[in-house]
Amino acid sequence: MEHTITTLNRPDQELDIKLRPARFDDFTGQEKIKERLELFVEAAKARGDVLDHALLSGPPGLGKTTLAYIIAEAMSANIKCTSGPVIDKPGDLAGLLTSLERGDVLFIDEIHRMQKSVEEYLYSAMEDFVIDIVIDQGPNARSVRLNIEPFTLIGATTRSGLLSAPMRSRFGLLNRLDYYDAATLQTIITRSARILNVDIEPDGALEIARRSRGTPRIANNLLRRARDYAQVKADNVITAEIADKALALLDIDDSGLDEMDKKILETMIEKFGGGPVGISSIAVSVGEEADTIEEVYEPYLIQEGFLKRTPQGRVVLPRGFALFGLSPSGT
Ligand code: ADP
Repeated sequence: MEHTITTLNRPDQELDIKLRPARFDDFTGQEKIKERLELFVEAAKARGDVLDHALLSGPPGLGKTTLAYIIAEAMSANIKCTSGPVIDKPGDLAGLLTSLERGDVLFIDEIHRMQKSVEEYLYSAMEDFVIDIVIDQGPNARSVRLNIEPFTLIGATTRSGLLSAPMRSRFGLLNRLDYYDAATLQTIITRSARILNVDIEPDGALEIARRSRGTPRIANNLLRRARDYAQVKADNVITAEIADKALALLDIDDSGLDEMDKKILETMIEKFGGGPVGISSIAVSVGEEADTIEEVYEPYLIQEGFLKRTPQGRVVLPRGFALFGLSPSGT
């Protein structure tokens, strides 16, 4: 009897890499950002220059890391990846910076979480491609200036509001990614299904797209779960009905909202009569930071018409009430 050896790697992680578009042409949506980045890449390449530093901001799972890899690939440059909270002291950053070759991309995820001392250290590196290293201690301490190769910093952040003004001003290219509409996600899902070798009907892809919270990462995850369901229960074809059943089994609700989205709306309705209510009161009630609500959750709820911002505070809209079988008058 033949045995299949299963590896202990997380299969989902491997799939992530497989599904990640490697070139601008495969990256669907965010047309304006894509067009802009492609243009700057082309111009820098034609001049033989290093690409300007770029900041990519927006909620998780929208393609910031993917774009950083695509940019590096398009510039025919190496990419080194790290994340803000991982670099605890300027020395760690110095090690990274001095290892870069001309034109390399340094990708720093969650750049808003970098420590102040590290951040300040990065300024001269970004601006003049020099770093000051302090050697020795006490009275003998002195600083030595080192040149580093011109490089491109690509910073990603889910919370651009937390980025300091001096940091932000050092990026030449600022790009904010938005949630994807259902039709764009449908295209992404169809592409991913092809890579995964799964049969999916257009309506099946649309059903998953509608319930993916405007986010490609979620869309790909739901596609995998629908694939499992179709494999066991439905001859490997994902129809709209199969997608619906698979997502219902996972408790993914029809609107595509996640637990925190629903908690925010529910709290606003139950404790504050649907608003207007200030962001800090909502934050305290749901146990989440106000900026996270503002930058990660609220944009989707506003885009989809569940709530709105007014000068007096946030207000739940009829669609938000309807989610809980209620109407704004409380009936
Ligand atoms: P972020 O860095 O913003 O959290 P990622 O770049 O890691 O998001 O994207 C998550 C996953 O979603 C990627 O692995 C990729 O497969 C998929 N993805 C993101 N954006 C797109 C896109 N525009 N087209 C196709 N797939 C995408």
